[in-house]
Amino acid sequence: MSNAIGIWLTFIYVLGFATHNVELRIIGRAPRADQEPQCGYQSCHPTKPNMLNVHLIAHTHDDVGWLKTVDQYYYGSETRIQKAGVQYIIDSVVESLLRDPQKRFIYVESAFFFKWWKEQTKDMQEKVTMLVNEGRLEFIGGAWSMNDEATTHYQSVIDQFAWGLRKLNDTFGECGRPKIGWQIDPFGHSREMASMFAQMGFDGMFFGRLDYQDKDERLMTQKAEMIWHGSENLGEKSDLFTGALYNNYQAPDGFCFDILCSDQPIIDGKHSPDNNVKEKIDAFFEFVTKMAKGYRTPNVLITMGEDFHYQNADMWFKNLDKLIKYANERQANGSNINLLYSTPSCYLKSLHDAGISWPTKSDDFFPYASDPHAYWTGYFTSRPTLKRFERDGNHFLQVCKQLSALAPKQSPEFDPHLNFMRETMGIMQHHDAVTGTEKQKVALDYAKRLSVGFRACSTNIRSVLNQLSKGSGEETSKSYPLELKTCSLLNITSCSTSESNSRFALTLYNPLAHVTSEYVRIPVLDYKYDVTDHKGKRVPTQVVPVPLSVILINQRNSNATYELVFLASDLPAVGFKTYYIEKSESSKHKMKPKALPKKSSSYTVIGSKSFNLTFDTNGFLSHASGDGMTRMISQEFLYYEGEIGDNKEFLNRSSGAYIFRPKENKLHFATDHVSIEVYKGALVQEVHQLFNDWISQVVRIYQGRNYAEFEWLVGPIPIEDGVGKEVITRFNSDIKSEGIFYTDSNGREMIKRKRNHRDTWNVKLHESVSGNYYPITTKIALEDATARMAILTDRAQGGSSMQDGALELMVHRRLLHDDAFGVGEALNETEYGTGLIARGKTHLFIGQSLMRSEVSLKAMERLVQLETLLPSWKFFSNMEAYSQDQWLTKFTNSYSGIPTTLPKSVHLLTLEPWHEHELLVRFEHILEKDDDYHYSKYVQFNVKDVLGGFKIADMRETTLDGNAWLDEHRRFEFVPDPEDESYNMYGVFKKQSKDVHLLDAAKPLLGVKYSKEALSTGELGAESNRIKRAANNRHFTMHRERNTQAERQDTHKEALPANDRAKYLIELSPMEIRTFVIYLEK
Ligand SMILES: [Zn+2]
Repeated sequence: MSNAIGIWLTFIYVLGFATHNVELRIIGRAPRADQEPQCGYQSCHPTKPNMLNVHLIAHTHDDVGWLKTVDQYYYGSETRIQKAGVQYIIDSVVESLLRDPQKRFIYVESAFFFKWWKEQTKDMQEKVTMLVNEGRLEFIGGAWSMNDEATTHYQSVIDQFAWGLRKLNDTFGECGRPKIGWQIDPFGHSREMASMFAQMGFDGMFFGRLDYQDKDERLMTQKAEMIWHGSENLGEKSDLFTGALYNNYQAPDGFCFDILCSDQPIIDGKHSPDNNVKEKIDAFFEFVTKMAKGYRTPNVLITMGEDFHYQNADMWFKNLDKLIKYANERQANGSNINLLYSTPSCYLKSLHDAGISWPTKSDDFFPYASDPHAYWTGYFTSRPTLKRFERDGNHFLQVCKQLSALAPKQSPEFDPHLNFMRETMGIMQHHDAVTGTEKQKVALDYAKRLSVGFRACSTNIRSVLNQLSKGSGEETSKSYPLELKTCSLLNITSCSTSESNSRFALTLYNPLAHVTSEYVRIPVLDYKYDVTDHKGKRVPTQVVPVPLSVILINQRNSNATYELVFLASDLPAVGFKTYYIEKSESSKHKMKPKALPKKSSSYTVIGSKSFNLTFDTNGFLSHASGDGMTRMISQEFLYYEGEIGDNKEFLNRSSGAYIFRPKENKLHFATDHVSIEVYKGALVQEVHQLFNDWISQVVRIYQGRNYAEFEWLVGPIPIEDGVGKEVITRFNSDIKSEGIFYTDSNGREMIKRKRNHRDTWNVKLHESVSGNYYPITTKIALEDATARMAILTDRAQGGSSMQDGALELMVHRRLLHDDAFGVGEALNETEYGTGLIARGKTHLFIGQSLMRSEVSLKAMERLVQLETLLPSWKFFSNMEAYSQDQWLTKFTNSYSGIPTTLPKSVHLLTLEPWHEHELLVRFEHILEKDDDYHYSKYVQFNVKDVLGGFKIADMRETTLDGNAWLDEHRRFEFVPDPEDESYNMYGVFKKQSKDVHLLDAAKPLLGVKYSKEALSTGELGAESNRIKRAANNRHFTMHRERNTQAERQDTHKEALPANDRAKYLIELSPMEIRTFVIYLEK
């Protein structure tokens, strides 16, 4: 396998080298073309006034891995599994588009498109550029993959959009920039995703899946299209126009014309006995007429395509041509239905031009239920180890980006290596990757890709860290005295360097723009080690035994029986510090760690006066004291049994990779007695708990920390009884939460949840447990007037509060039946011939819920959340060749890439090399407006101070994705319904009348040229203009407010000394992210 990886790496290198000299395009500049590009809204086919305009969207949904791997899908191999080959799709579609300028097609997944693009001749590339410039081929979505929204972290979502959109921009310029989000298949939709789309400058987003009850209600009340408020902190800049599609993303029944479908084509032979034109058109009209009743404007969007459709594009297009022809022919006889080739952006433009107002929404679309017994809440947890590996991937990608940017000397292979990791992480965000809803073989392929990505990035990092660590400088840049190995098995407390060397160095790279202090744990064979810091100073250490349950893990090929613990303090921001670690027989003071004597009659307490946990005589947690209060808090492991059914009717649905369906909603205790061992030292106090022979846990409190760490180990989940199990950890408290709890949205803002409740409709839950599950990307919390409990997770999990005061998180699941949503396999993960073992960490916070003058608990949670997401990365180097003194003099053992750290509430979300002599940088305020008196305030800092290590020539702000100038970018604006009252007037909106003349509605989309024809294609009557004017008043106020804000900022700027520094002074409000391209001096 390592050989194969080596070859792959070489391949990446060569590939990158070959493409390295491609001309880099400037943001926003159109690619060279003979004529003025006519893409975007200008290229829309005109709609017809006073008619129902049916926008036919020819599209293909190309999963970036699911039943087959990414490459199997691209090349079309393994046809026995699925007849799907993306290369044929794009070939075929392009050919059809080139033949007929009337046709439109959208493409979504950049991962596939650029694989295809690279294989094309220059001639073909030019033809495709022409199609893009003329709006005939339009990119929609445009990220590397169509990411999941429940289990993804916002950092990775932003990254994969930035990369996909950059490739489109570099290749096609402005015409390649997608305007519309297209999340047609993800299994529920997050509010944060809406916010990110808005901040990336998208005009709107369409999606396919929402709760079946929600969907019914929305179609009945014409609220399927809405303005979604994406953030409680960011105001209207996070508003996104969002539409729920009528038929997921499929064609209407009977109109699937793909080679994969079996519907009848349109048979129009005049004398053919099979002629079905009348029948087809009648059926189609019936469908669209019914559908139109659910939507507010006389426009409907019909998706014409499905998974991997258009391998033979002509089959689709030929029938769509006929459908359009025969449908529109009826207009001569009074039909008011008009069919046209369209795109989601052209459809959105029609909605916008309709000039009406829209309903609003402020919560999210979780959980998603497709029927009364199918809540798609199992995938929040499915494949827990892949979910954790993906998070590690993000962590390493950030380290790789930063160090590639900080490199004193670049190597030609840096870019291709970094790009490979960027692209791999883009693939990992796909809605069948990190979700765990792919086949087992595909999951292994994802993991393999990710491990190659780690290898690729490791070579960049090793080179840069060696350059930065070089001391007196006799080494050439080619020889790397420091190995800087990543121990990827630290999750099972195993590391070859620390286990096989008596002298080694540990380099801790801190990717945060703050100085941090962190407890480090290193697997070792013995308990006698000395740790020295970069100044030669001995660091206090403690040794803790590795729990027996870890030592006994099957195939754990390690002799480490201890963990060496020390506090790595003052780790430099965006920098590193190296420690020298040496086995030392002489140190007599080092004692073999011994468990405290077992006491069966009294309680066990660990921690400090300010924060401690009490365990009862049965070994369970019973109390927590912190923040000046003591509360009853217990914690336990339980499991649900997965429902088994034949999936033939809703009631017989099995629990599976997508669906969580617990049998009888009944919980089973893992044990009623926990055996414990207690270890106390100066740095950490630990309780090792053994629940049964497949669940164990270490609960620990580090010195000086006011929260606890729970490191759980679950598996192999037994299935010998023929029952699949879904294991949860549950924290019970006496906090009176009254059904309310809070869950994060993609790791950013918290959303309020209420048990058995949805904000926008009266829910009827037929699954009382799984219908209350929500995605937890990083945090779940509850509180009452005095106390608060919050839990941070280290990966995406499902979670809920099923009783007041209790929080549960599903940590692992193993099931024996498929849930019949296509994957065709039971979620029964095995490794080394037995059930998969998962290990992970949760952090528990207990304290006062009140805001106060000192730092609030919420603010502490935010800071720790950041430090657990991006702790320092551990690099190990063999030091047998260097004594401690030699090490001290030969190497630079402390380094910071930024001379000024950021305020605590600000996160350096991104620091990466962008185009040549450019950096892409994002600053993020990590608190919400009401989190904390102090930390939630506006902050101000100077970018030039923070990035003082770089020679900055200029800086310009972009949209969140980094590919459009913020000051030049305009979005459609949509008018919200005036508080409820307008809604009943809807009947008026829709009335069509031939003699109404639509006034020239103001076009808020500045910077886009409208042709005159486009202006007059509105379909609504004067009535709507009346409403529009009323709404416009409100609109005007909004504009005014914004202008005042802008003016205020301007005056603010003018008040500053008129020097160059003022330009780099920036301000962030709570939850704000600002993105900049930094130009470096050449
Ligand atoms: Zn899909």
